[in-house]
Amino acid sequence: MTSTIIEEISTKKEMVVLPQMDLMGHEQITFCNDSSTGLKSIIGIHNTTLGPALGGTRVWAYATEADALKDVLRLSRGMTYKSAISGINLGGGKAVIIADPKTNKGEAFWRRYGKFVNGLGGKYITAEDVGTSPSDMVHIAMETKFVAGKPDFLGGSGDPSPVTAYGVFLGIKASVKELTGSDDLTGKTVSVQGVGHVGQYLVEHLCKAGAIVTICDINEQNIKAVSEKNKVTIVSPQDIYKVQSLIYAPCALGATVNDTTLAELNCAIIAGAANNQLEDEEKHGKAIIEKGILYAPDFLINAGGVINCYTEVIGVGRDMAVGLTENIYSKTLEIFKTAKEQNITTQKAAMLLAEQRIQQVAKIKSVM
Ligand code: NAD
Repeated sequence: MTSTIIEEISTKKEMVVLPQMDLMGHEQITFCNDSSTGLKSIIGIHNTTLGPALGGTRVWAYATEADALKDVLRLSRGMTYKSAISGINLGGGKAVIIADPKTNKGEAFWRRYGKFVNGLGGKYITAEDVGTSPSDMVHIAMETKFVAGKPDFLGGSGDPSPVTAYGVFLGIKASVKELTGSDDLTGKTVSVQGVGHVGQYLVEHLCKAGAIVTICDINEQNIKAVSEKNKVTIVSPQDIYKVQSLIYAPCALGATVNDTTLAELNCAIIAGAANNQLEDEEKHGKAIIEKGILYAPDFLINAGGVINCYTEVIGVGRDMAVGLTENIYSKTLEIFKTAKEQNITTQKAAMLLAEQRIQQVAKIKSVM
């Protein structure tokens, strides 16, 4: 490092990471850099009261390091809530890698990343997320045992996306039941934003259940694959918010429920797979209610994937993952009831339930 850079860093008055960690309750943030492979990653461990922090590794071409940090802070906290509300013994963690998700990173890159994960000694268990694939997990697994979502031939539980999609489908059914008194999806309209790993399976469930489905994606290949298998209407990514549908199912990236999109959204329910759908939990949670939209909290209904990884960590099969995922239907209805009774947002009701479990387990642990 040249003296000029050192001077520049040491004259910066504000250290931004620790106050943000304090505000959101994070335990540990690890910055990882390897110049030879070009690996640049941030691993976020939010809370390990219930168990090791498990969460996927996201590869994304973040515009700035601050954007990557913001994402890992939000995503890792979301994992804490997701595992807590699902009744599984995992804490919340997540990692981001700053890189173009479309380029092939190669073995050395992923093994170096695996070494960083291993260095955390099991406090963080990684898995797949946007931009990572089962084959990347194979390379990571060469350097660490702290990786879930490994392929079957490595004794893993494979791609968690089908289980995630099943949970989201059940969350959608529970939302429709809450709104209409029946969970029959025949003739119900659904707009699915993003037909990648999760979205493609969700579309299959919806079409089989008789729903009328509109899709969009920025990836033409994914659009082609899904529309060849299912009867769907295709719209451009820009037009998805304006489509008049009973349900808007965000299955691409987070923060798609914001000031701009809320002005356009033409739906009665928001229920999808994407993490952190509300750009601002408080503000947009309330704005949704004012618009008369029912929101199924993302971390509740998209928990199938982490449940699937959990069954791999504790060494049981996919049947148990599917069984645990089925609880999403009744839990979604329970959250709607609590939110109504306490006059709070559904997001808040779900967070309170998750926090309650963490506090109760922390109490038990303190007397062990
Ligand atoms: P993926 O990358 O396979 O799919 C995302 C899809 O969204 C891709 O096809 C991509 O081209 C598309 N997309 C990106 N930006 C878009 C835009 N602006 N408009 C329309 N389409 C766009 O990811 P995935 O595994 O299917 O996950 C989808 C979401 O669900 C992510 O937010 C992820 O964090 C969340 N999630 C996934 C799982 C899982 O098991 N895979 C579990 C829980 C949550």
